[in-house]
Amino acid sequence: MTAVDLPIREAGRDFIRDIVAADLATRRHATIVTRFPPEPNGYLHIGHAKSICLNFGIAEEFGGRCHLRFDDTNPAKEEQEYIDAIERDVRWLGFDWGKHLYHASDYFEQLYAWAEHLIRAGKAYVDDQSQEEIRANRGTLTEPGRNSPFRDRTVEGNLDLFRRMRAGEFPNGARVLRAKIDMAAGNINLRDPVLYRILHATHPRTGTAWKIYPSYDYAHGQSDAIEGITHSICTLEFEDHRPLYDWLLDHLPVPSHPRQYEFARLNLTYTLLSKRVLTELVRGGHVAGWDDPRMPTIAGLRRRGVPPSAVRDFVRRIGVAKANSVVDVAMFDFSVREVLNKTALRRMAVLRPLKVVIENYPEGQGEELEAVNHPDDPSAGTRRIRFGRELYVERDDFMENPPKKFFRLSPGKEVRLRYAYFITCREAVKNAAGEIVELRCSYDPATRGGNAPDGRKVQATLHWVSAADSVAAEARLYNPLFTKPDPNAADFVADLNPNSLEAITGCRVEAALADADSGDPVQFERQGYFCRDPGAPPGRLVFNRTVGLRDTWAKVAGKA
Ligand code: ATP
Ligand code: MG
Repeated sequence: MTAVDLPIREAGRDFIRDIVAADLATRRHATIVTRFPPEPNGYLHIGHAKSICLNFGIAEEFGGRCHLRFDDTNPAKEEQEYIDAIERDVRWLGFDWGKHLYHASDYFEQLYAWAEHLIRAGKAYVDDQSQEEIRANRGTLTEPGRNSPFRDRTVEGNLDLFRRMRAGEFPNGARVLRAKIDMAAGNINLRDPVLYRILHATHPRTGTAWKIYPSYDYAHGQSDAIEGITHSICTLEFEDHRPLYDWLLDHLPVPSHPRQYEFARLNLTYTLLSKRVLTELVRGGHVAGWDDPRMPTIAGLRRRGVPPSAVRDFVRRIGVAKANSVVDVAMFDFSVREVLNKTALRRMAVLRPLKVVIENYPEGQGEELEAVNHPDDPSAGTRRIRFGRELYVERDDFMENPPKKFFRLSPGKEVRLRYAYFITCREAVKNAAGEIVELRCSYDPATRGGNAPDGRKVQATLHWVSAADSVAAEARLYNPLFTKPDPNAADFVADLNPNSLEAITGCRVEAALADADSGDPVQFERQGYFCRDPGAPPGRLVFNRTVGLRDTWAKVAGKA
């Protein structure tokens, strides 16, 4: 797969929506029913968001409904924490399953009865081969598989063994139930697939009631049929499973026969969207948890300050196609900036402070200036900010020996302080080590508000805060978790970006940010969009950078 720039498609039109619209027009279905079927073995990521927006979006647009169904068929890997996180994340994305919350485990009894039905029909058998033997006898893409020596057991023999499997008489792995289809089938999924395996484990919902658990392939289609799903939408890797999906529905007395449709999963540059990798990132301590803002999880995006509408906007832009591709993560950032530019209030924050003393400003005095909260939205109002003799500006906004195009502060240079005055740098004060510790400046009282009555111009406008009235804060700047656009999932540790987190302490932010709420995005002028970290201890002011104002990473990574 190569990175491609996907065209921005017309919102709400793609091949799946075309199928749905046609099925309604021809009255094949009166109501559309879709489902989102996560396995609760990890947190949801942005790839899942694509599936969620597709399934819930179609239900909304066509007046149908979408079920949330936990595919909880493997208690060895599933946990209540994940169930709770998935519900929270789907809701946060803006979707509501109403009363339609289901679990594959709700159907264990029915699924079991249907397995006995297959046995009675001579369409399933208990196989005593080990997992390794089953794999070895499955054949390859070019060679047929070999029949199991246990394939021709009698119906009575199979029923007896299957019931004893259920009763817990055998250890894990001793036997499985397989469909009896065709070991020579061209499609390997039809070579007597496993329907049930023995697993002595505690299930989050059914406890220890079950000693056998259905396979994904066996549980999935039948759950769809029980719920009356009309369009079972999944990712392309299940295309080869569709003949099995249909075979099971054709051979069971199910109440409906849903159709499966496949679409291309989301892949993003500089990102790995695999639960296995994400789980290992968390377990291995490479990130601070599932909601670490560097993670592509919904929880991570939320903590980083990404609004749910930005995720939905992104999914709309990339569209739904049938061919796999890789989307540039810059497209996601674009959607985030689009939303935040409209909603985030503007504030001033100095991340790496350098002290400025205005020598001609009277000591012990101060004043209030008016600053607008949003340049394009007058209804966002204004706020008062304190100005005084001692201020902080950004360290990077001063250079002692500037190159030609550096318009910011340097000895003798005049600049504008946003919403305040013109100031001119007189001198840089150094400590014994030769480091610049303070700038001595003068201000022009006639430029209050930011304009000179004599019409003279300055080439830079800097953000600043008052030394006395600003508050201390920390900032966390996030860069991509991986150094490569296509990190290696098999050895992802080698591709981890050592600079994915830059934690900056000693920042100074304007007083209005002291009681910022984590749900309210802000733009730190000239720096980027931030939100207060909801995970920081109370009283500690920590801001996460959601996204920069421009795509600076592209330059750093040398791809621009
Ligand atoms: P894994 O990461 O191991 O492949 P999974 O993400 O498929 O697991 P599920 O919980 O089964 O885990 O996924 C739920 C649904 O989300 C499935 O229908 C799946 O097709 C869809 N989905 C998963 N990853 C993506 C993706 N990257 N893009 C779009 N849809 C996805
Ligand atoms: Mg899956």
